[in-house]
Amino acid sequence: KSNSTGNNVFYQAMEEVIYSIAPLLESDGRYSQHAILERLVVPDRIIQFKVTWLDDNNQVRVNTGYRVQFNNALGPYKGGLRFHPTVNEDVLKFLGFEQILKNSLTGLPIGGAKGGSDFDPKGKSDSEIMKFCKSFMIELHKYIGPRMDVPAGDIGVGTREIGYLFGEYKKITSTYEGVLTGKPFFFGGSLMRPEATGYGAVYFTETMLEMENKEPLKGQICTVSGAGNVALHAIEKLYDIGAVPVSCSDSSGTIYDSRGVDLELLKEIKLEKRLSLEKYLETHSEAKYIPVDEYPEGGHAVWDIPCYAAFPCATQNELTAVDAKNLIENGCISVTEGANMPSTPEAIELLQSHKLCFAPAKAANAGGVVVSEFEMSQNASMSKWSFEKVDNKLKDTMQMICKRVALTAKDYGVEGNYVDGANIAGFKKVADAMIAEGI
Ligand code: NDP
Repeated sequence: KSNSTGNNVFYQAMEEVIYSIAPLLESDGRYSQHAILERLVVPDRIIQFKVTWLDDNNQVRVNTGYRVQFNNALGPYKGGLRFHPTVNEDVLKFLGFEQILKNSLTGLPIGGAKGGSDFDPKGKSDSEIMKFCKSFMIELHKYIGPRMDVPAGDIGVGTREIGYLFGEYKKITSTYEGVLTGKPFFFGGSLMRPEATGYGAVYFTETMLEMENKEPLKGQICTVSGAGNVALHAIEKLYDIGAVPVSCSDSSGTIYDSRGVDLELLKEIKLEKRLSLEKYLETHSEAKYIPVDEYPEGGHAVWDIPCYAAFPCATQNELTAVDAKNLIENGCISVTEGANMPSTPEAIELLQSHKLCFAPAKAANAGGVVVSEFEMSQNASMSKWSFEKVDNKLKDTMQMICKRVALTAKDYGVEGNYVDGANIAGFKKVADAMIAEGI
């Protein structure tokens, strides 16, 4: 493992899984005999392409687009598209690899993939976003299809972007089919898809706390990082169940509002107007705004706030060992990963050794892909499910995942370790399918 390979986050994700599944590989020789691990860590294919588009000044711009189709043993490739300047092959391999095991844990027929571009949507006009999305799809459409690969959103790709991508796919192929999930409701989207990941993370946490005999979230102070789709819907569900979410953050700083954050205002600032969180102070001058350059050394302001339960919902490696120490010292009892791999390995080790309940991303944030699969089912049968139906099925599925992870951990002698439980349960199902399907 070294920086020069450029595989840092991918190796970080892979290393965790390999440690977790070692007892399984030792106890069942079939997995080594069929070289499952060696086959699982190499994507089926990595597609890289050029995206040229015209900005508002008629200047031609060039970005790189990717789709990493990792594994389709359990169903069509499935995973989000991320538009962010930090996107590269390493990041997408990490996300695609995690997605295989996450999708396996849901029990639904979906394989693992991820894609996106180093395009930065920040500061771009609506027409520039549309032009970029359309150019991106001109290449991507060759590799996707409702039974082949069904992308969704991720950082920088929400309902608006999925709408433009879908519009272009339709134009090129003359087909109206469920090739993308996260579509707006009135042309094929599922109710509750935007809410699904954040709500699902809270459902998972409630089940985990119950299984671990801890006090429920009702009435408890919770900290949340991020201020995007996942974070704001986690905050919404926390309010629904009577908890008090007191923070959120974006790439420039953190808001701490001890009375509970103003969700409607946050939605307006971040989802509608796409502005900096600092704007929050114009309405709530008594709240605290901590800019990034005032964060604790090696850490993040949001994890310095005393809380009962923490929900990292922004991005990878945003909860470090320094942050874990602060959470432990402040009496936090549970950490749920809403974002993908937000905690560093050192942070996870600290949290687990201090007996905090720790819900890993691939189990706790599976709600988004679960409702994406519900969207595929609705599209395939040309039907629409009610909000209640989707919400009930999401809740049942998150509870099922949580119980399955906890029971697997117990079966393999690591009771209470949800990281190992999720890795073993997710791996086993994909591995068994790979053996049954042959080489
Ligand atoms: P959004 O683009 O809606 O929001 C991302 C948020 O994180 C924004 O507030 C953004 O700040 C902040 N952020 C992004 N990068 C950084 C960074 N480097 N440092 C600090 N803050 C950052 O994305 P989502 O909410 O959809 O995704 C958040 C996480 O959840 C990601 O890890 C994603 O992979 C994961 N996830 C998302 C799912 C979904 O359904 N959307 C499903 C499963 C996982 P700013 O506004 O300043 O850019």
